[in-house]
Order: sequence, then C-alpha cells, then structure tokens
Amino acid sequence: MDSLIKSLDSLYCDSLTSYSRRKTIPVRVGDVIIGGENPIVVQSMTTVDTMDTKGSVEQCIRMIESGCELIRITAPSLKEAENLRNIKAELRKRGYQTPLVADIHFTPNAAELAAKIVEKVRINPGNYADKKKFEVIDYTDASYAEELERIRDRFLPLVKICKENGTAMRIGTNHGSLSDRIMSRYGDTPLGMVESALEFLRICEDEKFFDIVISMKSSNTQVMVQAYRLLVQKLNEGGFKPYPLHLGVTEAGEAEDGRIKSAVGIGTLLEDGLGDTVRVSLTEDPEFEAPVARALIDRYTHRAAHAPIREIANYPITPFEHNKRHVAEIYNFGGHNVPRVITDISKVEKISDREMKAVGHFYLPELDKWKMNDIGCDFVYSGSNPIPFMLPNGMKEIQDFAIWNQAPDQVNKFPLFHLDEYKKASRFHSEINFLEVLDTEIEETIPAIQDRTDTVFILKTNNTHSMPALRRAFVSLLEAKSTIPVVVKVSYPDQTADMTMLYAATDVGGLLVDGLGDGIFISLEKEAEHSRQEVLDQIKLHNSVSFGVLQAARTRMSKTEYISCPSCGRTLFDLQETTAMIRKRTDHLKGVKIGIMGCIVNGPGEMADADYGYVGSGKGKITLYKGKEVVKRSVPSEKAVDELIEIIREDGMWIEPETI
Ligand code: SF4
Repeated sequence: MDSLIKSLDSLYCDSLTSYSRRKTIPVRVGDVIIGGENPIVVQSMTTVDTMDTKGSVEQCIRMIESGCELIRITAPSLKEAENLRNIKAELRKRGYQTPLVADIHFTPNAAELAAKIVEKVRINPGNYADKKKFEVIDYTDASYAEELERIRDRFLPLVKICKENGTAMRIGTNHGSLSDRIMSRYGDTPLGMVESALEFLRICEDEKFFDIVISMKSSNTQVMVQAYRLLVQKLNEGGFKPYPLHLGVTEAGEAEDGRIKSAVGIGTLLEDGLGDTVRVSLTEDPEFEAPVARALIDRYTHRAAHAPIREIANYPITPFEHNKRHVAEIYNFGGHNVPRVITDISKVEKISDREMKAVGHFYLPELDKWKMNDIGCDFVYSGSNPIPFMLPNGMKEIQDFAIWNQAPDQVNKFPLFHLDEYKKASRFHSEINFLEVLDTEIEETIPAIQDRTDTVFILKTNNTHSMPALRRAFVSLLEAKSTIPVVVKVSYPDQTADMTMLYAATDVGGLLVDGLGDGIFISLEKEAEHSRQEVLDQIKLHNSVSFGVLQAARTRMSKTEYISCPSCGRTLFDLQETTAMIRKRTDHLKGVKIGIMGCIVNGPGEMADADYGYVGSGKGKITLYKGKEVVKRSVPSEKAVDELIEIIREDGMWIEPETI
C-alpha cells in the first residue's frame, strides 16, 4: 500500500497543514448545490414507511425544521417509488422545497421510476445489479469483463433517465454490502470499496453524465476514513472529475457513542477539507441527526484563518491503512499497551473517595474495597490538588511537579513537568515522568529527551486547526525516529457536552485512526460559577468521552459495541426501543460487537464485522446471526433477546453482569 503514496502531489487532500476545502464540481440537486464553492450540505433520511404519505411528510417537515437541507427516503419497490410523487407534492403544497433523494437497493425498476420523480437517486453499487450470496468466485479477466458488461446493461437505463430529467445520483458504496464480485477480487478492503464505485462511475462518464456525488461508508471508522482518502487519490490519478463527497459513518449507533463514532469518521475527513455533504446516522429520530451534522460542519466556517503550521516535505504516515506508530514501552504506555486515559480532576479540591465514581472507580465503604467499571480511568491528573486518600491499584495519580517534589510519597505518584521545569529539574520519578509540550515546542524538545526511557509527552496545541497541528508534531517525531509515547491533551473551555464529544472525537480520533497517540487527556476547565457537582459531571463526561473516542477509533475496546442501523421505511421493529432493550441486557460484554438491523434485505450486509446479529425478518420475527451465519430464523420478537443471549452463551462469550 505504500506504493500508493507516490508523492505529496498525489495525496488525498490539498494540504495536510493548511485548511482548504477540496475543489469539487458543483452538482445540482433541485435548489441545492452540492460541491463547488457551496457550503457543506446537511442531509438525513426518514424512518417512516414510505407508503405512509402523511407520516413521511410530517417527519420530513420536522427534519427540515431541525436543519436538514436534503431528505432521503427509501424506495424498496415500485410502489414506494411511485408514492414519492405524493410525498413530494404534499411537501411542495405546504411550502417546502427541500429536494428529495430516493434510496435504492436491489431494485433498478424502482430507481428508474424514482429518477423521474425526485431530484436525486442513491444507488448502492454493491447490490444494484448483484444479489449477495457470500460466494467467492474465481474470475478470469475475461469473465470479470463480462460481469462489467452485465452491470452496464442493467445500469445504463438509469443513467439515461437521470441525464434526461436533470436528476442527480449518489454512488453510495457501503463497506458491509460489497458485491461478491468485488469481494472476490479485492476483498473486504478500502480498495474494494473504491473500485466498487469506480465500476459504476466509468459507465456514467462514458455516457457524459457527471451529476454525481460519491460516498464510501463503513461502521468501522478506520476503514471509512481510508476509503474516502483512497477514493480521492484514485479519482485524481484516474483522470476522473473531482466529484463531491457525501460523508457518513454507517450504523454509528445512538446517544454519546453514535455522536463520537460519527465525529471520528466525518470530522477526520472534514479536517483535511474533504466532504461536501454530511449525513450523521444515529439510531434516534432523524430530526436529531441534522444538528449533529451542523455542529460538525460549522467548526470549519472560519477555519482557514488558523495560525500557520509548518509544511510537510515527506509524509511518513500511510493514510490508506492503519499502522501504529512504533513507540517504546514506558511504564504502561506505548509498546503493545492500549492507549491510556488520563482524567483531569485538578479543579476539585480534596476530592473524596466516593466522588471517584465520576472516573469509573467505585469505593465500597462496607467492604472497604474498590471496584472499577469498564471505563475506569488509568490515571487521574490532580494538578495541585493532591488526592487525600489511598488510591485503588488500577488507578494512578499525576501531580504537578511542584507538588510532587514536596510530596511525602514520590513513588506512587507521578510528576507532570512543563518544559522549563523539566530542563532545570534534578529529580525525576524513576519509572515515568510526564512532560507537557506544545506542538510548536516539539522539535526543540526531541533532542533533549531522545534517549530518556522514563518520559512520556503530553502534547497539546493552541492552533485552531488542532488535529493537523498535532499531526504535524507527530510527523516531527517520526522524522526524528523518536519512540517516546505521546498522550494527546485537548481542551474545550465553554463548550457544551455535545460539542466536547464531537470536538474531542475529531481532534484525538483523527490522530488515532492514523496510528498516532498513546493516550487521551481532556483538560478540565472550571468556570467560577460552576458548582462542585457540575465540575464532577464534567469530569464524568470527559472520562466517558475519552473511552468512547478510543473505542470509536478502534484502538481500545472497553464496552460492548452496537452496530445499529438508523432505521428507515423498511424497518420491521422499533429500533430505538429494541437497541435499548438489547443494550440493557448485554452492555457488560466488553469488546463484543452486536449488529441490530431493521431489515433482512440490507441488514446482514450492513452489519459489517459484528460478532452477533439481530435482524428483522418479518412482522414480529427476528433472524439471529453469529458473524455472517444464520443461527436461528424467524424467532418471535418477544423471545429474540433471550435467544440471542443463548447464542452468545453457547459461543462461550457470555459473562454474568456484575452489580456494583
Ligand atoms: S438495515 Fe436498517 S436502515 Fe438499512 S435498509 Fe434495513 S431497516 Fe433500513
């Protein structure tokens, strides 16, 4: 894969250090233009049955009022495609001009009809002309070319209709639903995802049809980021037009986890100027999606004015595959250790043992014992407010050097130095010392500590183009062949809980997907008017966001992962209620991935790499999967969660939940 990075000129973005949006061709979708010089467009998808005209229209209006600028509606067959006419007419009658997009899987006839009614059609190249049988087929070049001819015949009518009617198209690849043909030739890879879209794109370009937007979605943020980058590089190298990109993470889930996962994937690409329209998919009502997309996008409105970041001459990071930066093991950082969480409690004076539950450590006074949940932090930073009681074994304390230097116990506490203190210090901890540096100080610092085996960097930046500024510092470390572990420190004063989640996920997650970073540290900012409880709530948020970011970037699994679809008009059960029910019974199964999918048509493909699947297969009926294999069909929904647990148990992956 290294060979793909021929030079910085063929990289996937205009600049790795200076914010600039990738130049794309404008694609008109009704009154909205995606790409070109136009602002990034927010879009979302309805969940009501498409045959329910009134329900669909009312949901569309709620979505529009929450900031949605483009609305996608599923059209699984001709009758739903036909009903788009009624939905559109009613919306226009009520004064809403928002363009509509028909979402198509498996049904070219529905696509061809919808393309005459709505402003845009989304096709999935994995299933437009192919039925998935999970077969590995050995193609010769000739038989592969024959397959491409078959696709052309199937797809050409839609291209012609779109061209004649001024209808735009999204070629929307999903990692989970690549065709058997692509899987056989390229495997389940970002390259396979890109080629899947290019097969269809070539047909469009041959017909001189260019009103196209492309997406490369996955529920795996690393794969998703790599696939979009590779797509841009392949478009550039292949002489294709610079088509606008639709960004999204599929099956991101709900609540905090869904927001963090979306931001890791979408935010990482936005940082490099990629993306012309964004859909955040949450397992929540669709009107909750647009505000999250808007919050992600709005971060870039004034981004171009950031302080300069030194340019990169040779990029030592492989942007199309995950390679962890090689770092030395220092105490429990670096080496083969998972990234660590340092939770900042420094603004709480004389914190009590019971208040440590905010960082996932629970003191049980009756037993005089400590327990830890799945998100018990590894270190707390107490700054100049030392912890007045003995800590549990699983957690260590970091103090400001001035405090540590005077402390009676210098063995079980660790010092945090600023650069001037570190340069002058004559005493260090024998095992681990933390040195806080700015991105702009890193180059001068490396020679001084290159040979130290007792120091970990805490790296931060004041640059508003944070992720690229921090990434630039990592490039300096890579160039200097430094193996010192690095904890990334970020700070979001005055931000709401939602913004803190999205920003930390982008700034730290964007580094982690590229294998950079050995820990996360979200700085605690205390406003004068905040009560002690509010500060403790903020600590709890930072702690859980830190673990959430590590999990979403697939670098440390501390919780059960739910790959739940956002639901749509095909959904056969209440996804939010069902996800909550499954979560309640299984959220102690650390690292296990459970797919919860609303329909059997797309669900099994979209579950990607889930270990177990819960898929709607009929009214009140659920089909249960182990990986991609069906284990039980048509289980009545009232018994399905018990049966799912039974499958997990038989597989040896079940553990009884603990009560704290
Ligand atoms: S998996 Fe979910 S979102 Fe996808 S088509 Fe089925 S019900 Fe709709």
